[in-house]
Amino acid sequence: YVQSFTINVSNMKVISILGSTGSIGRSTLSVVDLHPEKFKIFALSGFNNNDLLLEQAIKFKPSFIVTKNLFSKKILMDKLKDTKLKTEVLYGDEGYTFIASHEKVTTVVAAITGSAGLISTIEAAKNGKQILLANKESMVMAGELINKICVENNSTLIPVDSEHNAIFQVLSKNSDSEEIKKIILTASGGPFRFHSLKNLQKVTVEEALNHPNWKMGKKISIDSATMMNKGLEVIEASHLFRLGIKKIEVVMHPQSIIHSFVEYIDGSSLSQMGSPDMRVPIAYALGYPNRITSGVEGVLLDKLSSLEFYKPDLKKFRCLDLCYQALSMGDAHCISLNASNELAVEAFLSGKINFIQIPELIEKMLVKTEVMNVNSVEHILELDNYARDETNKILNKTL
Ligand code: MG
Repeated sequence: YVQSFTINVSNMKVISILGSTGSIGRSTLSVVDLHPEKFKIFALSGFNNNDLLLEQAIKFKPSFIVTKNLFSKKILMDKLKDTKLKTEVLYGDEGYTFIASHEKVTTVVAAITGSAGLISTIEAAKNGKQILLANKESMVMAGELINKICVENNSTLIPVDSEHNAIFQVLSKNSDSEEIKKIILTASGGPFRFHSLKNLQKVTVEEALNHPNWKMGKKISIDSATMMNKGLEVIEASHLFRLGIKKIEVVMHPQSIIHSFVEYIDGSSLSQMGSPDMRVPIAYALGYPNRITSGVEGVLLDKLSSLEFYKPDLKKFRCLDLCYQALSMGDAHCISLNASNELAVEAFLSGKINFIQIPELIEKMLVKTEVMNVNSVEHILELDNYARDETNKILNKTL
């Protein structure tokens, strides 16, 4: 009995989800829910949405849930008393780190948005976890460092971001980067893909949040509208697949059916297709190296009228251009870009700046950034803080 129990448990992936109440977290749980024999939820974590976190805890019965602060912890503990669940409530950075590094955990879903996800992603890497990476900002800020920590601790990164997941699916395991001519990330172009540069000045927050193909959180929706999201993905791809800037291109593809291409030196281009639903890449990452059902139907080819592709307009989508510039300048510029973008998005959402001021603010911060080597978490956080202070100064003075 003991033996068969052990075999069962070792086949199961034991999962902590960092950011379970967000869009990626919710999609992950809906795939997990289809495969109770394959996955055990060890821990869940949220930030603002305690009600949903509690609801998820009741359904998936994790050992731990993590919330943002002591106040939220007390509220959740009170509510849990009525449920007879043995789930423990933790809070704050210590809590996120605890569930990312716990010895019982095999798999960490890194789905916290923005720089807030960096430390817990690094903790998972240090502890040899399989990391399902949805937090692109951590790769933008610390790509090479995370790669190094993963190699040293036998941790693996499986990209969840749909474009990178597509490339990951396409790349054959033994394919040499010499054999790859380039990768091409597809971009829907967001809600303003058909706007003129002039019309971009007048767009509202509501319009910017209204993505035509994907339902996502606020930060990534604004990033998609500016195409910063695609630029961050270019930087993410350079680290994940260890490719130079000249081997990473972006093509507009409004239908969001093809989720990126790999072009090989022999002239073959391979791609992955799927409905624009994050459960598809999430299921691939969860099941890897096997395929499991996701709850999503395949692409209905006869219902597709056309698949279109065209070049992005870098004058209109300056954020994309700024990402290429930051990548060519190096780590410090990528950190500055990410920090100033987070503040710019917040400032836009709160009505402080207009849409076209987002790239203006980021560019001003990039100009102030010096080229330097960055090789520790402390240094990354220091540069991140510096960029936030400086960006705030620019925001308060000149805009
Ligand atoms: Mg993406």
